[in-house]
Amino acid sequence: MTGLLAEPIGSIRELVVSAPALDLGPDLRQTEGVEGTVRLTRTNRGLLVHGRLSTAIEQVCSRCLRELEWPVQIEIDEEALPVIDFASGLPVDVDAEPDALRLNGHHELELEGEVGDAIRLAEPIAPLCREDCPGLCVECGQELAGGPHDHAGADVDPRLEVLRGFASDPERD
Ligand SMILES: [Zn+2]
Ligand SMILES: [Zn+2]
Repeated sequence: MTGLLAEPIGSIRELVVSAPALDLGPDLRQTEGVEGTVRLTRTNRGLLVHGRLSTAIEQVCSRCLRELEWPVQIEIDEEALPVIDFASGLPVDVDAEPDALRLNGHHELELEGEVGDAIRLAEPIAPLCREDCPGLCVECGQELAGGPHDHAGADVDPRLEVLRGFASDPERD
């Protein structure tokens, strides 16, 4: 990145990103690494970061409880500012802009924090394996995705059991 910072304002670098999955803690797991492109543009203060990245996370369908892979698109549009003034070599007053994305002390851009935050925000509240997932049978818990099923062998309402007895007894008057 130091090279780009030495170049005139408006200079551009296009980077291809192919990074392994991040450690997002025990409750969130990526099923794929992070892939995409990041375009860096030299500004008068630092670097404009324009990232288009994608990955996927492990989720559970909120209706049928099946595990699924949830694709995540990550967009980053931020200016990254140095912590060391590039011209003078002196530390920058970072407290003046505490929320700014910062290059590290070697003028390198580390996007793990930004990418991790974006993935957490992309986590769906009620994910579905497919939009019309019928979920589970309220009586027996079986998946309804395979179509209608009967409850032979399952616990059946005793009133229905009586009717079944009638139907299967041809000798009865
Ligand atoms: Zn489902
Ligand atoms: Zn059922």
